[in-house]
Amino acid sequence: MAKRVLVKFSGEALASKEGFGIDTAILKYIASEIKSLVENGIEVGLVVGGGNIIRGVSAAKEGIIRRSAGDYMGMLATVINAVALQEALEYWGLKVRVQSAIKMEEICEPFIVRRAIRHLEKGRVVIFAAGTGNPFFTTDTAATLRAIEIGAEMIIKATKVNGVYDKDPNRFPDAKKLDTLTYDEALSDNIKVMDDTAIALAKDNRLPIVVCNMFESGNLLEIIKGDYTKCSIVSNNIK
Ligand code: UDP
Repeated sequence: MAKRVLVKFSGEALASKEGFGIDTAILKYIASEIKSLVENGIEVGLVVGGGNIIRGVSAAKEGIIRRSAGDYMGMLATVINAVALQEALEYWGLKVRVQSAIKMEEICEPFIVRRAIRHLEKGRVVIFAAGTGNPFFTTDTAATLRAIEIGAEMIIKATKVNGVYDKDPNRFPDAKKLDTLTYDEALSDNIKVMDDTAIALAKDNRLPIVVCNMFESGNLLEIIKGDYTKCSIVSNNIK
């Protein structure tokens, strides 16, 4: 069983039916799934995206807001989600710290890797907010970076689908699930696992990427315990 993991989910997962904002029922559900990991002695780092509030690329679409400004807005959005998630985790009685890549000390701690590791060792969940702190990156890259920094055994990308498909399963009924992929396959154009920067970083550091459905209760725990039937794994050593 993995001892330390990094779980990443998109901001959109938190959105209400309208596709934006934060749905507290979903927040409560996600936090309860994380609780089951902590109760099983797993050290959990979390990264949440900001797409339910704003994304840099969309903000910059009309040419009024510059991309870098839009990206900083996106990073701030992840802090909003992180604070919400912290509340939901504390609702379930967990100990939590938010660490931000951009200092905002009235709201959360700054990111300090040694301190983050100490929190994890003490059984606290650490939420890494504000992405990498740099524009032109994504929260997938931030999650991969933090996973490597804290020495996580895997990064779990928790999504709405149960793995990686050769084409969009929502549009193509004949889409095939790929149980295992190499990093190079994940980098190919038609496969959408994470952006290339994130995959390249994982490849260089041999960090396995697991893609699973977070809306199937118990899934995260099963994967961490070593049951890989309901997910896809990107790594070099399978096949
Ligand atoms: N972002 C950024 N640098 C980072 C991480 C995120 O500039 O290191 C910005 C970027 O604009 C991105 C937004 O924050 O669109 C929200 O993150 P993301 O799109 O990855 O969220 P998700 O799609 O996972 O909800």
